[in-house]
Amino acid sequence: MENLLALTLADETPDQHEGDGPSFHWRWLGRGVLELTPQEASERSLVLSCGIHGNETAPVEIVDLLLHALYRGEVALHCRLLVVLGNPPALAQNKRYVVSDINRMFGGRWSQFPQSDETDRAQWLEKVVTDFFTTAGENRWHLDLHTAIRASYHVRFGVLPQRNQPWDEEFLTWLGDAGLEALVFHQSPGGTFTHFTCDNFGALACTLELGKALPFGQNDLSRFAPTHLALRALLGGTSPEHCQEHVERYRVVQQITRRSDAFQLHMAAHTLNFTPFRQGVLLAEDGDERYEVHEKTEYVLFPNPSVAFGLRAGLMLEKMC
Ligand code: ZN
Repeated sequence: MENLLALTLADETPDQHEGDGPSFHWRWLGRGVLELTPQEASERSLVLSCGIHGNETAPVEIVDLLLHALYRGEVALHCRLLVVLGNPPALAQNKRYVVSDINRMFGGRWSQFPQSDETDRAQWLEKVVTDFFTTAGENRWHLDLHTAIRASYHVRFGVLPQRNQPWDEEFLTWLGDAGLEALVFHQSPGGTFTHFTCDNFGALACTLELGKALPFGQNDLSRFAPTHLALRALLGGTSPEHCQEHVERYRVVQQITRRSDAFQLHMAAHTLNFTPFRQGVLLAEDGDERYEVHEKTEYVLFPNPSVAFGLRAGLMLEKMC
């Protein structure tokens, strides 16, 4: 089962559905999903997901390396672990998604999309994660690994779902140690995988955006080294090397939503993530609806004018002090 990625891409069912590794018991739960239970009792339960967007391959290769390290006994597992390769058909085709974006469907929102393999997958992943966290202690983490589509002023950053309880500073420090230069805090619910686990299970959850990815085998994984090393330490129950660098914090102040064919985003196609805009600037129009900068300065994240109707065409952020 050390070859979860190869098996998943080939859509093969393993001969054996469970067994023992050097420091854990493993169970294959379905295509692209593997549960590892450490021999030693452990406080932490971690969902480690990647490939929710099928063309974001570098984190999938990192998770593959981490699994190899666990199966070879180079790392002794110190937490309950659920590995999720999110969207196998899209991974096999190197596409973001085949019919619809899974990372908008969680929390039952799959019922609002045309039925497809992806709506079925989102529904099934909700069930698998629910089973995993139902038997978990209170220390619950979910790290969902992505790569950003566009260039960015912050090469690596994290997006955290809306959360009513305060965030755990140890978790936020770990994210900085994993190489994230900035953290973005959502203020309202969404259909992302991390919002689902945070909202339903109180998981400390973060969507990690780790720079640009290339097709399988072409990624320069050294660019992802801080994250790779921090994950390796986390699985082994040790602390990563501390990065002293300042981690910038932003909160989401508005969402730009594409509602019709009339939608226009007034930004250059190559606009970088975290590009600042001054108060009063017209950001987008959709018929009578106008999106302007309200705060003194707002920073754009994920601008994308060609999303489906009703979906996010961009987020606007302000810096937190
Ligand atoms: Zn993504």
